[in-house]
Amino acid sequence: MTDLLSLWEKILLELSKTIPRSKMMAGFLHSAILEIEGEKAIIGSARNFYISYIEKAKPQIIEAFAKHNINISSFEIKIDGTLENEKKNQAVDLQSLLRDSKQISKNNADEPLQSRKLPKQSSIKITKEGETYISKILDEGFTFRNFIVGNENQLAFAACQAVANTPGGAYNPLFVYGSVGLGKTHLLQATANEILKKNPNALVVYLPAENFIAEVVDAIQKRKMEHVRKKYRQVDVFVLDDIQFLAGKDRTQEIFFHLFNDLYSAKKQMIFSSDRPPMELQLTEDRLKSRFSMGMIADVKFPGYETRLAIVKLKAREAGILMEDSVHDFIAQNVHHSIRELQGVILQSKAQQDLCGIEPNIEYLEEVFQKLNKGQKIIKQKSKGEIPKNMEEIIESIANYYNLSPKDIIGTSRSSQFMEARQVAMYCIKKHLKTSLQQIGEYFSGRDHTSVLHATKKIEKKIKEDSEFWKKINDIFE
Ligand code: ADP
Ligand code: MG
Repeated sequence: MTDLLSLWEKILLELSKTIPRSKMMAGFLHSAILEIEGEKAIIGSARNFYISYIEKAKPQIIEAFAKHNINISSFEIKIDGTLENEKKNQAVDLQSLLRDSKQISKNNADEPLQSRKLPKQSSIKITKEGETYISKILDEGFTFRNFIVGNENQLAFAACQAVANTPGGAYNPLFVYGSVGLGKTHLLQATANEILKKNPNALVVYLPAENFIAEVVDAIQKRKMEHVRKKYRQVDVFVLDDIQFLAGKDRTQEIFFHLFNDLYSAKKQMIFSSDRPPMELQLTEDRLKSRFSMGMIADVKFPGYETRLAIVKLKAREAGILMEDSVHDFIAQNVHHSIRELQGVILQSKAQQDLCGIEPNIEYLEEVFQKLNKGQKIIKQKSKGEIPKNMEEIIESIANYYNLSPKDIIGTSRSSQFMEARQVAMYCIKKHLKTSLQQIGEYFSGRDHTSVLHATKKIEKKIKEDSEFWKKINDIFE
């Protein structure tokens, strides 16, 4: 097997002298010699669509065999999907092979060509005995396919896909930010998984920043800093999740800064996530903030109703739970914070189904939501787009949305969380009902009509300036 593998490597190198790299990649990725029977070679290819390329190169392949003193008069191409399986390691690592051959020909070296033999993912031992620093934390369950794309995460999704297609290309580093539970880790891991799928020998490192910090702190204590830098300098793709945790870790920031420069100048792809944009990170290394902004910055926001509904349906299907449409709708309506929360509700539903054999229903889910967020007002099914008919209903909807009580909204507290909800309530009443400014003011703890006017103007301005805010307001009455 090994002999056939190295023979195929040599043949592919021969071919690469006359066939352009892109065609080589398109046709000979995941290919191998499966067998040589007399004068017949059986070539394996992982996918059907590679075959035509191999067919076209038939004369060159035969010629290349001859150069290695093997006489082939015919060959057969067999589809063998397992050639894509990195663990089996049967196929030539074409990407590394072509990369090395380019380097060697550049150096004019005359030594025998060998593919870049990186250790396999599962057994990478770069520092200490037994230490493996990849894929273990990579969860193969996170893919692009099981990520629901909506307006709120479309840019981040597209950027991640672009990076997966061309690591180290235009979007380096890629910086994804957004608050907790909105899919950042999912996207980062999906990107890492996709890169590994396309290029199983790439050294892809995914780390939560906390792990990285712990490693650096440990290395500082043991005076092995160079070790860490050397180790991570070797990677092809470096993915660091939740880098806001670098705040206050000055030494780690410094070391990270140098590592960043090493990787950046070597055109190695870096992907970071954080709960806030680069410039808002609390870093003593100001230089790092500007480095983070050198590539592509994309945010993920809390998804609107449509996206949430699609996610509920997907997660329920993944969990194997049967639900009526009205139940899907109920969950999508009542999740206000994160997709993690949504996922929690689905898991509870699954537990109920598995333990009690009951298909999750709205009454049960109402309880689940109450336990999750004490005091949350439950939004019962409402036909979409229906605007409440009176002030009380509008205030109630807004109170639900903001997780406040109607009393807080009409009250006098000037705390900022109440203020926004109150202004939004006044705006919506003015917009949807024919109530006068004076009447509104009276209902809101006897305020003057000018303060109602001021509030509604403020919201109108914000809506014009911030399309996300506009969507948020629309979302309340969905
Ligand atoms: P973050 O890293 O932003 O805190 P995660 O990536 O851990 O969030 O997401 C939390 C959960 O929500 C994960 O299980 C993830 O699969 C799921 N999730 C988030 N956004 C989406 C989406 N758009 N489509 C499918 N699942 C999602
Ligand atoms: Mg995360």
